[in-house]
Amino acid sequence: EHLGLAASLRAAVVPRFRATARESETHSFGAAQLHGGTVLCLANARGIVLHISPNAKKVLGDACERAAEFGLTLGALFQPDDPTDVDQLIERYIRTPPGEDFSTDLLTRGATGGARWLEIHCRNLQHENAVAGYLLEIRDVSARHVDDQQRALMSAGLEYLAESVIVTNLAGTIKYVNRAFEQQTGYPASEAIGHTPALLKSGRHLPEFFERLWRTISEAHSWRGELCNRHKNGALYYEDVLITPICDAQGVISHFVSCSRDITDQKRTESQVEERAYYDALTGAASARLIKERARPILALARRHGHTAALLHVEIDGLETISETHGDVVADEVLRRVAERLRQSLRESDILARFSPDEFLVLLSEVAEEDSTARVVRRLRDSVCKQFTIQEHTVSVRATIGVALYPQDATTYDELTEYAHLALARARTAHHGVEFYRRGLTDLTNERLTLEDDLRWAWERKQFVLHYQPIVDLTSGDMIGAEALARGHMIGVEALARWPHLERGIIEPAQFIPLAERTGRIVALDRWAIATAARQAAAWSAKGWSGWVSVNLSARSLHDSDLAGYLLSCMRQYEIEPGRIVLEITESAAMRDVEVTARILHQLKDAGVLIALDDFGMGHSSLAHLKYFPVDILKLDQSFVRDIGVDPKFEQLIDVIITLAHRIGARIVAEGVETEPQLNWLRAAGCDYVQGYLIGRPGPSVGIRPLERLSS
Ligand code: C2E
Ligand code: CA
Ligand code: CA
Repeated sequence: EHLGLAASLRAAVVPRFRATARESETHSFGAAQLHGGTVLCLANARGIVLHISPNAKKVLGDACERAAEFGLTLGALFQPDDPTDVDQLIERYIRTPPGEDFSTDLLTRGATGGARWLEIHCRNLQHENAVAGYLLEIRDVSARHVDDQQRALMSAGLEYLAESVIVTNLAGTIKYVNRAFEQQTGYPASEAIGHTPALLKSGRHLPEFFERLWRTISEAHSWRGELCNRHKNGALYYEDVLITPICDAQGVISHFVSCSRDITDQKRTESQVEERAYYDALTGAASARLIKERARPILALARRHGHTAALLHVEIDGLETISETHGDVVADEVLRRVAERLRQSLRESDILARFSPDEFLVLLSEVAEEDSTARVVRRLRDSVCKQFTIQEHTVSVRATIGVALYPQDATTYDELTEYAHLALARARTAHHGVEFYRRGLTDLTNERLTLEDDLRWAWERKQFVLHYQPIVDLTSGDMIGAEALARGHMIGVEALARWPHLERGIIEPAQFIPLAERTGRIVALDRWAIATAARQAAAWSAKGWSGWVSVNLSARSLHDSDLAGYLLSCMRQYEIEPGRIVLEITESAAMRDVEVTARILHQLKDAGVLIALDDFGMGHSSLAHLKYFPVDILKLDQSFVRDIGVDPKFEQLIDVIITLAHRIGARIVAEGVETEPQLNWLRAAGCDYVQGYLIGRPGPSVGIRPLERLSS
């Protein structure tokens, strides 16, 4: 028995220990025993210990050191935590076929009574097909068991971590998620594992965002950032994410661990704080930052639709003086009301922002044309410059405005603000209320604005004059020109307004009438023309000329409710007979609202004046409507006269108009007659009166010279 055991022992054990006891020179059993914490134990076929290594005392306890001496069985070597474990161990010794090994871990009470894990590796020694004995290697593996426990604890910790954890493999397939993940996303682990994190995609990030993220972690760097994801129920949430690549021993990435914290609430409060920073508390105007953000879509839209946006840099002057004399409270109130007034002049889509304590920015989202921008800017400025009454103090401020246009002046918002600022600087130094940035527009619009200022100035000083152009009667003789005038065929004159500008010379009505119409000054101007014409008519009567004076009326004056009353008072004042004043109303203005015009014209007619329809044939005239108007004179537009001898079609049309005018009892005046052939043609066609450079240009004294001759 011993021989067999020794032989099989040598075959089984010695090579093993040669391998483990690397530093050992001697390959003896005893030397090997000294190495490491492994206890070697040899038992016979009945399990009686024959030999045990001296280190048994350390691993198994004092008694075991002398197990061979006492003839202990293998089972008695261990003090198990649970006795049934030893029963199972013995079962394994018996059942393991001869020549084979088995391993098991056993929890025991160690020498000091503490828990200790032993790894038992057993080899059933065989001799001639029978069990010859057992060779046990017993090792203390408590440390490894502690590791495992630790790992279990750690994974439990991970599982219950407040942060959401995802582990993916290299391809991004989810291998593990913890409970916080399940809560945060609404997806149970079973639904998440096997998918990629794209499951949570919100669509709020650009593809480049994820490309950057993947590039970073694929290069073995951590990535940290904010992600907006979508809960299973569809709600968006924000998280602060750290993704770390996990490398194996060779430094090759095997997994990615993503750890994230929900910051949705935090973001919400942040945005509330931001909201507050977005608006100025005093004026409620947007911040410079907000207007910049909002400008982007407005400018994009302007470009797409081909319209113009305007940025105004508005500087308020005089606040300092107000706070010095009335205190900060009043100054603040002024500023608040300035913002209010500015806002009232704006449209919903426009933006008002406070740029500095006394500067505002205004973004006009859409302006139709250069003209209308100038008008809006002017209106804004006027509204600010009106007086304020605050706590019984009457105060006022001035506004200086720089304007830049998009896309004409600038291609970006930043450029736009820069140019508006430059324009403001220029407005300040030039003492202009308003200045436009763009060179071409600057000249045009600034001129218009200055002209507007000048117009007001001139109007207040009554600097306008009337020039008169003769209208001669073709029906009473063959004479034309000076001869006709001299012979008394001047049936009437047309009064045409002129503005002798101090620096620019005489300004034509084409330049200032539209301006006067825009600023609402036209009604007063027309009344002034009526009064002046009436006075002139009276003066001419005194010299023996009793022709008519026609006065042009703008469309706006048609709605001057007391125009008829005013006319009557003028005629009374200058003692002129009805019929000496002709009111010229353009055909297009009359046709705008046929019913209203008819009513007003009847009123005027009742006041005793004559009515002329000006520029006839120009607008979308409906000859049928003519019968509703009490028209005395039809003024054939210059464009028709120009076609005489040029286009027979229009010649025919003139024939028709003349016939029609006569049928409704009106006389016809051909305007813009410049040549003799035109005059002759018109006379042959039965036209009543003519007016034009051929007969006489408008002038201050044209009416007077013939009068003088007539009277002489
Ligand atoms: P309109 O009523 O058609 O006046 C006739 C215009 O034709 C005048 O221009 C006159 O100078 C011009 N004209 C006269 N004969 C000839 C000619 O042979 N050839 C050419 N090419 N032109 C000729 P003006 O004075 O520049 O006035 C322009 C317009 O301004 C007038 O057109 C009228 O609509 C308006 N306007 C003038 N004065 C007043 C005013 O006091 N009140 C209002 N509301 N409008 C006025
Ligand atoms: Ca006219
Ligand atoms: Ca005309």
